[in-house]
Amino acid sequence: MKRVGALALQGDFREHLAVVRRLGADGIEVRTPEDLEGLDALIIPGGESTTIGRLANIYGLIDPLRSRITEGLPVLGTCAGMIFLASATVRYEQPQLGVLDVVVERNAFGRQVDSFEADLAVAGMPKPVRAVFIRAPWIHKVGAEVDVLASVTDQESGEERPVFVRQERILATSFHPELTDDTRIHELLLEVS
Ligand code: GLN
Repeated sequence: MKRVGALALQGDFREHLAVVRRLGADGIEVRTPEDLEGLDALIIPGGESTTIGRLANIYGLIDPLRSRITEGLPVLGTCAGMIFLASATVRYEQPQLGVLDVVVERNAFGRQVDSFEADLAVAGMPKPVRAVFIRAPWIHKVGAEVDVLASVTDQESGEERPVFVRQERILATSFHPELTDDTRIHELLLEVS
């Protein structure tokens, strides 16, 4: 049985663990560096990225997370989790792992609408994904090694903004796949692990 951890410092880690258990994996709450041992994959949930970053710092998790992910631990970051994985944030300075080569813009939809749902076309998935966005970031800039799997159109500029990306075994979404019955994104994490 695969062991999938969810960073359980703040945010909706319980919903993620419920999904991975439904998919037949062992779901583990991760709060200490020791909890990372023996994991096949890790989820960093949505919540508040500055709080997750601050708590990760206090719990001594920043360096262990960074090295496990750099060594190839498959990871899925959703919303605040995407922000925490990224290398930088537009306008804000906050603790980040810097393992995903993207610059994120926090609360990017705020100017338009805070929270909403949309059917999102995702590369490699025949049917669209019902995506729940809650005070969500989008990606401002992607690095060369990053594949964009889904985007939305910025109503103001008309430009495409990535909301689902993959860099090797790092998956990151702006939206919350754990809040719908569609388990395909968690299945993808299990496939790469
Ligand atoms: N707005 C939050 C942040 O900037 C993310 C929101 C979420 O995870 N749903 O960290």
